Amino acid sequence: MPADLTGKVALVTGAARGIGAAQARLFAALGARVVLADVLEEEGRLVARELGDTARFVRHDVTDEASWRAAVAAAEAFGRLDVLVNNAAIYTTSPIEDEDPARLDALLRVNLAGPFLGIRAVVPAMRAAGGGSIVNMSSQAGLQGIWGHGGYGAAKWGLRGLTKTAAIELGPDGIRVNSVHPGAIATGMTAHLGTTAHPAAPLGRVGEPEEVARLVAFLASDDSSYLTGAELAVDGGASAGRMPAPKRKDTDA
Ligand code: NAD
Repeated sequence: MPADLTGKVALVTGAARGIGAAQARLFAALGARVVLADVLEEEGRLVARELGDTARFVRHDVTDEASWRAAVAAAEAFGRLDVLVNNAAIYTTSPIEDEDPARLDALLRVNLAGPFLGIRAVVPAMRAAGGGSIVNMSSQAGLQGIWGHGGYGAAKWGLRGLTKTAAIELGPDGIRVNSVHPGAIATGMTAHLGTTAHPAAPLGRVGEPEEVARLVAFLASDDSSYLTGAELAVDGGASAGRMPAPKRKDTDA
């Protein structure tokens, strides 16, 4: 049985493309009304239009508190707010020694402070709705150290930590908070890889945005009613351990 989101109102950030757009499409298909938020207006409006009356687009910058108020108001125009997906992020990599302070600041502002502001912005509306679900889109880089991911990884580890504290503080209000940790997923963010093969993942391939969206839909739905403060990897097993297995020598019996 797919998750049922009938009657729920969801706010998805970074919904103009990639994993966020896949979430918005799936949420709508599962019965939710969806506010798609992004700085990319043209792409975001196109996805919202495709979804019809059940969707709205709002131009929204996650680093800006006033922008969050407008996004929450757009959700409340649907009558309530049950789900926030803190999905928007930027991705740059650099060895720590070469990192540019301005780029590090941008990574921390968009990928960590943005979700922090988002959690604060939605809590009153979720309390009014009697509870809710917040899904923080972290990364495999929030579970492991990865070369070149000093700034991005620090933000994503921070988001994983923020998830735990938010789960503790908001649990008594019936607001669940969980983090999702995708590995390499086929979106604009990974287009530079130029391949769908992924030798470092036991499943041998990169994931599709819809495979992440299905996990997020589960976390958004009442099917995950006892799940909070959890971290869920959706990475083809890439964070499970080292790949590949060492070659056996002929002498190994
Ligand atoms: P994407 O670049 O395709 O989409 C990210 C969206 O966020 C874009 O539409 C962008 O405009 C929006 N955005 C960026 N800055 C913003 C801001 N300040 N305010 C509002 N919106 C903003 O990336 P994606 O691959 O779909 O990634 C979605 C999420 O999944 C991100 O949190 C990313 O870190 C995470 N993730 C992706 C991968 C992957 O391999 N694609 C792996 C691990 C984690």
